[in-house]
Amino acid sequence: MKQIPYGRHFIDQTDIDSVLEVLNSDFLTQGPQVPAFEKAVCEYVSAKHAIAVNSATSALHLACIALGVGKGDYVWTSPISFVASSNCALYCGADVDFVDIDSKSYNMSVDRLREKLEKAKAENKLPKVVIPVHFSGQSCDMEKIAALAKEYNFRVIEDASHAIGGSYLNEKVGNCKYSDVTIFSFHPVKIITTGEGGMCTTNDSEIANLIYRLRSHGITRNPKEMTEQPDGPWYYQQIDLGFNYRMNDIQAALGVSQLKRLDTIVEKRHKVREYYDKILKDVGVVLPEQMDYAKSSLHLYVIQVIEKEMNADRKEIFERLRVSGILVNVHYIPIYRQPYYQKKYGFKYSDFPEAEKYYSNTISIPIYPELNQEDQDRVKDAMSKPIGHQVLF
Ligand SMILES: *Cc1c(COP(=O)(O)O)cnc(C)c1O
Repeated sequence: MKQIPYGRHFIDQTDIDSVLEVLNSDFLTQGPQVPAFEKAVCEYVSAKHAIAVNSATSALHLACIALGVGKGDYVWTSPISFVASSNCALYCGADVDFVDIDSKSYNMSVDRLREKLEKAKAENKLPKVVIPVHFSGQSCDMEKIAALAKEYNFRVIEDASHAIGGSYLNEKVGNCKYSDVTIFSFHPVKIITTGEGGMCTTNDSEIANLIYRLRSHGITRNPKEMTEQPDGPWYYQQIDLGFNYRMNDIQAALGVSQLKRLDTIVEKRHKVREYYDKILKDVGVVLPEQMDYAKSSLHLYVIQVIEKEMNADRKEIFERLRVSGILVNVHYIPIYRQPYYQKKYGFKYSDFPEAEKYYSNTISIPIYPELNQEDQDRVKDAMSKPIGHQVLF
C-alpha cells in the first residue's frame, strides 16, 4: 500500500543540478549563493532586506533580539502554531501569552487581540512584540493588527513559516508593510525548501544589520560599525553576542532554484484544494475557508470533523486514515497545553475556547504539489470507511 504523507517537498532536476554546481565549486558556505538567495527573496516579496539563516526558529530568535525582547517583556502569539512561535520569546528571557483564534481563518483573532490589549493596558502588562502566525499559508488581517500596534505601541513579527508565495491585499507576504520583521521557513514540509533553513525580511536597515551580525557570532567587518580603528585588513570585531545561525551555499542554491518555481507550486496546491473542496463538501467535515483579503500559499489543508454528521469522532477518522496509509496529522496541539508551558504558566484551557474547539476536531489531510486526484479520492474513501472495512493489500 502506497503511503501518502501530509506534506512533501517537490524537487526537480534543475534543483539537483543547482546543488551539484555548488558541490563542484569553491564555496560550500559563505560564498555567492546565500546573497543570491537573499536578493531573490527581496525581489519576490518586495522587501528592502532579507537575511538567510539556518531555520525559521533561528529567524524568530534573532528577530526577537533585534526588537529588543528581554527579561520583563511580554510576547504574544497564536496558540494554534508550532512551539517555535513562542519559544523564541522564552530564549530571550521574556514571558509568553496567547491570543485566542478566529473560528473562520484559524488565525489570531483581531477582536480577541483588541480585548486583551485593553485589559493589559489597564494592568500595565502590554506586550512588546506580537507574533501573528499566517496559519496554513493564509495571511492574518495585518492592516488591523498594524493599527493596533500603533495604538498600543508594540512591534510585530509575522511568522510566515507557512506562507511564502501567499499574498495579503494583493501584495506578497513578507513585504513588511504591516510589520517590523517577517520570517519564513524552508523546512521540507513547507512551501519551498532548502533542506533546513529560514529567512528574515525587513525594511529597517538597522534591524537588518543587527540580524545579519547576530547570525554570525555578532561579528562585523564593517569599519563603520567598529568601536576601534582596524588594526589591518584582517581585522574584525565582535560587538554583540551572536550565534552561528548561518545558512550554507548548498542550501541557498536549492532555495534559489526552488524560488523560481514558487508561483507554480502555489498554483498546484490550489488545484489540490479545489478538488478537495469539491469531493469533500458533503462528507460531514468543515472545509478550510479562504478569506477575501488573502491568497493562501496552502501549506496545510485542515478539515474539522463534524461528529454528528460523520457518526465518528476526530480520533476515529484520524485512525481510519492512518490505517489506510494516509499519514495525516494534527496542526497543532495548542501551545498552552504543552507540558513545558503548563508547568511554567499553568494556562487555563477555558481562556482559549476557539482554540480548544478547533483542536478537538481538526485533522490536516495531505496537500503537496505532486498529490494527484486518485490519491485525493483515496483520502475521501478512507475517511468514510469504518476500521475493519479497509482492504489491506
Ligand atoms: C515550521 C514552523 C516553524 C519553525 O520552522 P523551522 O524552519 O523548522 O525552524 C516556526 N513557526 C511555524 C508556524 C512553523 O510551522
